[in-house]
Amino acid sequence: MSEERKIILETQNVSRYFGALKAVDNVSLQIYEGEAHAIIGPNGAGKSTFMDLVINRTSPSEGKVFFEGKDITKKKPYDIANLGISKCFQISQLFPKLTCCENVRIALIKHHNKIFDMLPKKESYLRDECRKVLAMVGMQDHMDDSARFLSYGDQRRLEIAITLAMEPKLLMLDEPTAGVARAEGYEIMKMIRDLAKEKDFTVIFIEHDMDIVFNYADRISVLSQGALVTTDTPERVKQNKFVQEAYFGGKL
Ligand code: ADP
Ligand code: MG
Repeated sequence: MSEERKIILETQNVSRYFGALKAVDNVSLQIYEGEAHAIIGPNGAGKSTFMDLVINRTSPSEGKVFFEGKDITKKKPYDIANLGISKCFQISQLFPKLTCCENVRIALIKHHNKIFDMLPKKESYLRDECRKVLAMVGMQDHMDDSARFLSYGDQRRLEIAITLAMEPKLLMLDEPTAGVARAEGYEIMKMIRDLAKEKDFTVIFIEHDMDIVFNYADRISVLSQGALVTTDTPERVKQNKFVQEAYFGGKL
């Protein structure tokens, strides 16, 4: 990684306290434009909270967040989404009774707001757009399937499609492969990497499976008890003493 790489997201001394607990503790992190950046760490390390601080779903107790050089710390989550940060939640954000097409449609309308109203054939245009978004994740044949009957892997794909409908510059994924078999986890991660290259967006992902992390991350940040242990390349992170003990010596 060269020194001159453009920084898309930066947190400066970001902390979040829940009473006496420091869920995120003074984290300063720079994410390069175009990279796939993994966040790892034991359960309760503050990974999900850190992502929530970026989109102000949880407000930081201290510190600042910058996106494309602009201070977004106090912006509303909705405005942050409109700036180009999309987060795929660990807990499903799907509408289970709606079809895949309808789930994506909601996201498209939210993102494009009033633009569709001006189109003469709004409904068929929207359906075509939904199909295109679903095709990105290989789900174009599930247009009219109800979300609740999808396999777990396809639900994750649909969740990713919904975030892609927002045309993000930065996509944040909280355990995108959780609950799916390893082979499918690999497929999902590969799909995300390919899409990121094709559509030119940056990815931050939280992931427990170290094989996936070391195969798909350009850089890795390690959190422990809210604090940043290190940010580095996979090769160097693998040599890190904390990582060695937490992941390769003992159980997570
Ligand atoms: P991770 O995603 O790394 O497993 P989390 O960010 O979910 O960790 O949680 C970090 C710590 O903060 C945990 O100890 C968790 O119990 C605590 N925590 C998270 N959210 C809240 C909340 N809303 N209220 C109180 N404690 C919380
Ligand atoms: Mg979590």
